[in-house]
Amino acid sequence: MIFKQYESEVKSYSRSFPVVFTQAKGAHLFDEKGQQYLDFLAGAGSLNYGHNNPELKEALVDYIQSDGITHGLDMHTEAKAAFLSTFAELILKPRGLDHVVQFTGPTGANAVEAAMKLARKVTGRHNIVSFTNGFHGVTLGALAATGNSHHRGGAGQALSGVTRLPYDGYLGKDFNTLTLFKKMLTDKSSGLDAPAAVIVEIVQGEGGLNTATGKWLQELSLLCKAHGILFIADDIQAGCGRTGTFFSFDPFEIKPDIITLSKSLSGFGLPFAITLFDRKLDIWKPGEHNGTFRGNNHAFITATKALKTYWADEKFSSHIHARSEQLKHKLNKICDQHPKLFRKGRGLMQGVSCPNGDIADAITSLCFESKLIIETSGPEGEVVKCFPPLTITEEELDQGLAILNDAFSEYYANNEVKLKAVS
Ligand code: PLP
Repeated sequence: MIFKQYESEVKSYSRSFPVVFTQAKGAHLFDEKGQQYLDFLAGAGSLNYGHNNPELKEALVDYIQSDGITHGLDMHTEAKAAFLSTFAELILKPRGLDHVVQFTGPTGANAVEAAMKLARKVTGRHNIVSFTNGFHGVTLGALAATGNSHHRGGAGQALSGVTRLPYDGYLGKDFNTLTLFKKMLTDKSSGLDAPAAVIVEIVQGEGGLNTATGKWLQELSLLCKAHGILFIADDIQAGCGRTGTFFSFDPFEIKPDIITLSKSLSGFGLPFAITLFDRKLDIWKPGEHNGTFRGNNHAFITATKALKTYWADEKFSSHIHARSEQLKHKLNKICDQHPKLFRKGRGLMQGVSCPNGDIADAITSLCFESKLIIETSGPEGEVVKCFPPLTITEEELDQGLAILNDAFSEYYANNEVKLKAVS
């Protein structure tokens, strides 16, 4: 097979789903044998509006047909102007965010690098606080803020400039982890170098669908203000509607100083990332942080269309909330049927925590046999993570959840002895 012969061992998703895909539409993928799969992975959150979304596709095809600019470095283009004005009107202004937009290189990690560099530059401090189980990308700066030892192990050098503190709930739900942070900030011998910023995911996607409460986030935000620390919300995975609102922090009345977005920002699976920050922080020198592909105009076209189609009113949010409730209800039912399972996450990023990663892997393999594409997350890969396109219909979501339910039933029926051993 060509992939075995020429593709590096670094590949990962193709190991779980070893078929050759040819087409995709909405919540479905098709392989070369014409078999149909329901997609509960959605490009790891890059396909919130489904595969080949017809409205976005039409806008892109029209733009290409008219010989619109494809690659524009960071020059002014009509497509970029349309994106900026739509983003300002529909996203920034209604939230009272006086943020400017930095077009970074097109990956999430690049947006995170820009955020961390800017925070250090603005404050003159080198240290950044990140949280246990946080995932922020695998370039060296972002990787330093990432907790996962598998990814950190690939660095080949010391990862520095970051202090890790416990995320909300890390020490149990009754323990406020910010008590430690607060104490360390005021104790001159705590060993914590004054942080330039904290970087936090409101829901930890790769870290196992851990959620921060509004109370914790508000307290963190106040603590940051009191100590001159910038608040970076990494909304690369949980943003663009994944939790029901455009930003995952929308329900909590916090205003992050810096916000990173990527994944579903283009809405069509095209590479695109931005770092947003309070205009007062904009002390970059021209081109100081850059990237050749920071002007992906095809992504500007589809992103603009996605914003206009889905975020001009509350309809799409209501749809996501309804599907999220459906997901919650069904996952709770699965967890009630079998021992040692519990539901995690929020919105359309929820999943089932299993006693260990082997069980979660067995479940996702069974799902794949039944033509459901679904992955795991968490420190041991122990969380079966439901990540369907947000546009999924009630029926499609039910179909996928029925497959998931059957996979758990089959696994638990066949593995009683093994399960006793993990109890
Ligand atoms: N930040 C978060 C929260 C992510 O989930 C990811 C990727 O999963 C990244 C950053 C890195 O994005 P990318 O893989 O596009 O570099």
